[in-house]
Parts: sequence; C-alpha cells; structure tokens
Amino acid sequence: VEAMIRDTLSPLYEVISNSSSPAVKFIRSRVERMSERWTWAGKRMKQSRNKTVTPQMKVLLYLGALVGSVGQRLEATVDRGGPLGELVQWADLSACLTILGHNLTFSTSQHQLHSLIGAAPGQGSCPIQRPLTFDLIYTDYHGLAHLHRAMGLAFQHYQILDSFGTEPAFNLASYAHIRGYKTLWGSWGLQPLQYMTMFPHTPDNSFLGFVSEEVVKKEVRDGGLKPESYKKDRIAVVYGKQEYMWQGKSEYVEVISKELEIHGTVYQPPGQTSSLPSFVKNHGLLSQENFLQLLRRAKVFVGLGFPYEGPAPVEAIALGCVFLQPRFDPPHSSHNNDFYKGKPTTRQHPYAEQFIAKPYVWTVDMTNRTDIREAVKSILKTKVKPFTPPEFTCLGMLERVRNYITHQAQIGLLQHGARRQPFVSFLQPMGASLWPPAGASAVQLRWI
Ligand code: UDP
Repeated sequence: VEAMIRDTLSPLYEVISNSSSPAVKFIRSRVERMSERWTWAGKRMKQSRNKTVTPQMKVLLYLGALVGSVGQRLEATVDRGGPLGELVQWADLSACLTILGHNLTFSTSQHQLHSLIGAAPGQGSCPIQRPLTFDLIYTDYHGLAHLHRAMGLAFQHYQILDSFGTEPAFNLASYAHIRGYKTLWGSWGLQPLQYMTMFPHTPDNSFLGFVSEEVVKKEVRDGGLKPESYKKDRIAVVYGKQEYMWQGKSEYVEVISKELEIHGTVYQPPGQTSSLPSFVKNHGLLSQENFLQLLRRAKVFVGLGFPYEGPAPVEAIALGCVFLQPRFDPPHSSHNNDFYKGKPTTRQHPYAEQFIAKPYVWTVDMTNRTDIREAVKSILKTKVKPFTPPEFTCLGMLERVRNYITHQAQIGLLQHGARRQPFVSFLQPMGASLWPPAGASAVQLRWI
C-alpha cells in the first residue's frame, strides 16, 4: 500500500493519549500548536512535482527516555527547566510521519512494548520466532536497551534504518575496545547512519532535525505582517532555563546589559531565592507559546555556552533575533570537557556558528569585554530579518524523512513477506545536548 499524504493529524491524536504525563502533554500541545503548519506543508508537498512513492509503514515510536524510572526522572524536570529538545523532536517526528501517511504506534511503556513485539520480559537471549508487527522502529538509547532485552539476539540481525548519530569509532565494539573508545552508550555495532541527530553535524550519522518557527511565512501568507514589521524592544533573552547554567557568566551578561534589558526564563524553585544578577528580569519557565512571544519582542538571544545548541536558538533566529554566543577555543570535546566524557562522540558541532553564521549568529570571546561590547553594538546597528533554514521547516522535514524512508525501501532494506524485519532508528540529538551525565554529576539526563 502506498503512503498517501494526509491533510489532518487526527490519527496522531488518537495514538497520543490524553496522558497526565507532563512530557506527553508537552508533545501533544506542540503538535496541536503546529498542526496548521504541518497540514499546509503536506498540501504543498502534494502539489510538488516530486511524486515519490513510498510504501506505507507500520511505525513504532518507542520513547525509551520516558519509560520507567528514567522516565520518571525526566518527567519530573519537564516543568522545572529540564531538557525539552528531545520532546520537540519526538513531537515533530510523529507529526511528520503522520502527514506522510504512515501508521503510528506511540509507546512510553515497556509493558506495552512487550505486548507489541510479542516477547515477554526475560526472553532476552531467544531470537524471536514470529514476524514483527512493525516495519520501522524509532527509539532512543534507553529504548534500544529495552528492545535488545525483549528481542534478544534477533535485534542485532536487523538491518537498521539509517539516519544520524554516534561516531563510528564508538559504534563498533571491537574497534572501540582496542582504541579505548569505550563508553557507556556506544558499541552497539549499528550502521552509523541509524543514529539520527538534532543538527546536521556529520555525514556519518543521519540528520533528523525538528521544525522551527516559521510564523513570518504564515503571516505573509495570510496577507498580514511583512518580515520587516516585527516590532522589537531593546531587550535580550538569555538561553538557560536553570540557574546553574548562568554560573560564571555574570560578567558577560553584565556587559550585554549595558545595551539591552536582560530577560531570563529560568525555573525558580518555590521558596528558593534567586542567585541571578539583579539586573535580570526573570519570567520563570514559560510555556512554549509565551516563550516564543518573548522572543518576538527581543533583539538578541544570548547563549551562555551551555546548553549547547538546541531548538531555542533556531527558533530565536526564526523570530528575528540575533543569536550571540561564547566561543570555545579549542572547541569542547571529550578530551577537554567533562560534559562529553563517556559519550560516544569526541567533538562539538558548532551548527549555528558555521552554518547560519553572521548576520544571524555572532560568536564572541566571553572573557573579552571589548569583544562582547563591540559585537552587541554592531548587532544593534544591523537589521536582520527573521530567518528559518529550510531544513528546519515542516516541508524540509517532510521531504527529508520521506527520503530516508524511500531510500531504505529502494536499497532493499525493507523485506516484505513472512519475516519482515523492522529498521530501528535512533533519535540522538546533537552530541552536545543528549548525553547522559559523565559519572555521577548532577547534569540532567539528556537523550533521545
Ligand atoms: N522553551 C519553553 N519555555 C521556556 C524556554 C524554552 O517552552 O521558558 C522551549 C523552546 O521553545 C524550545 C524547547 O523549549 O522549543 C527546547 O529548547 P532548548 O533549546 O532550550 O532545548 P533543551 O535544552 O530544553 O533541550
């Protein structure tokens, strides 16, 4: 059966339940907020001359990071400044696959996983005996471990869907062992293309991405605002939802505060006094809608160096902000930075700096007050229009994901018949943000 582009997301609302989980709620409300853009992009795709035919897939989205005790920990941080980037990707992937006409099953339960794939817990070492229900499985590192436990050796025999992820050196257990590339997470021996990242970091892995704001286009489409007509106040919004991210950065932010009023969206635990500099107007963690409203008014979005790039800077640029961030010289890697230790990558990928670049992205020496001041002054003199890289639009993501799926079918990875084998694809946002903490540090778990 051919996958037919849909003009509605209703099949998705049926599979994403009205859950009480804050993470699932976030996913659902994001899908709802963006539904009009998705259906519009689907229509555009239908009209395009590219009539790629893709077989309709039964797809399992197994969000391992939301399962069990790991899931409970993540759920507890959703409303408190914890990582949302992975949820952004899951939301966008599920909307994208639904528009592309595939049939989705969405699961955050190990129990449900076992009933779906027809294996009972504890059957870890037995290859499965019957055909699998799914053509394609998207999961994350946590989910991979669950799938492995449930499907045993058979798991390793699957041809795995491509896309982007872990560096090859960490992926092949024998090589990693000899060269000392041991990590808690790599060494699954998958095709490197099976790992799907948040940014297009490396051709070794696949770029899944997410969808950024494109409000301008919609407004223009509706005959309303022109991109130039955003009314900007003289304010900067800082990228950092938790106080620890601001530590050691006061001087940098203070230099910026001489030119722009500084706004924050930092989660404030009840009863705890804020340690943010007194010049900061903190709104507390905002709903995504309100956060985007704030960015619409801002001239500059200020990176603190950590978090590394996530969806927020791309959204900010799409809403007409300039992204200002500190330079790491040398770039952060597992050789010089604790955050990367134990993760299956050695490198930092400066997408914003290299791919978007000036006039939208300015990278400064955070320790050099003159450098910061000059950059801010130049930014204030420069007019920038809202900009969304095509790869972060609904249409861009639809085309990309359809190409992955089609390509895999064409190269014969999809076997129809009695023993269909699913491809497992991993969501693994950019190296920087997704990894679990090295050792027992307090950094939150950030994976997909
Ligand atoms: N966001 C939000 N409220 C805020 C700040 C950010 O809802 O106060 C959203 C933002 O719109 C983005 C998402 O959080 O889509 C994740 O962005 P970020 O780059 O911060 O990634 P994270 O570090 O959370 O993975």
